[in-house]
Amino acid sequence: MSKASQLFKQVIKGGRKSLLETEAKTVCMEYGIPVTKFKLAKNETETLKFAMSIGFPIVLKIVSPDIIHKSDVGGVVVGIRNAREVRSGYRHIMDNVKKHNPKARIVGMLVQEMAPAGTEVIVGSIKDPQFGPALMFGLGGVFVEVLKDVTFRIAPVNEDEAAEMIGEVKAYPLLKGYRNMPPADLKAIIKILLNTSKLVMDNPEIKELDLNPIMVYEKGAKTVDARIILE
Ligand code: ADP
Ligand code: MG
Repeated sequence: MSKASQLFKQVIKGGRKSLLETEAKTVCMEYGIPVTKFKLAKNETETLKFAMSIGFPIVLKIVSPDIIHKSDVGGVVVGIRNAREVRSGYRHIMDNVKKHNPKARIVGMLVQEMAPAGTEVIVGSIKDPQFGPALMFGLGGVFVEVLKDVTFRIAPVNEDEAAEMIGEVKAYPLLKGYRNMPPADLKAIIKILLNTSKLVMDNPEIKELDLNPIMVYEKGAKTVDARIILE
């Protein structure tokens, strides 16, 4: 059995349906989907230690099975540049979580490398009751939230279909480079689409998957946040 399917069984056994970001990113790594470097700290001292070993700038995020949208509860601090900011960020997040969701069970603090700004894209999967898993692609932020500029394909998708998906969104010209924005690494996006397709095909227990955002660069890409919901 693959590590991913073992993990899914374990999560379901524990009475959960949604994976922690650490778990979702571990699954991504198994499938060759690039993610930001991360470590899960259990207290403030360890958070500092891990921040030093990953290297600044870093991002801190709350890890709790009771918190799905981390920034909604003040559970994310980006752009931490030194030890003092690690400590204040840690306390800030813990205070916010206590205020917004005092009953939340805290697993720890996620310490991760801060991905440099890039073109933000999203890759998702939902399950169609008739056709099974479908893949979604779009550019992040307003493009998906306001303009609903996204495209879908029934999985599995092959390389040609993945390339078609990317070319189909209205914001596609932005990926080709625009004013001071360099062209994005389309091959890296295609690879993520193919690997996500394999991930959802191999694991029918996945109900929803959301890689949002993925930072795409001139060379390479990095998933900054990953969510996986199980049946
Ligand atoms: P949420 O659970 O609220 O969706 P995210 O993990 O997506 O939390 O973090 C919120 C936002 O913070 C992201 O959309 C992204 O803009 C930024 N962010 C999070 N992690 C990183 C990172 N490692 N590098 C750069 N930006 C990040
Ligand atoms: Mg997010």
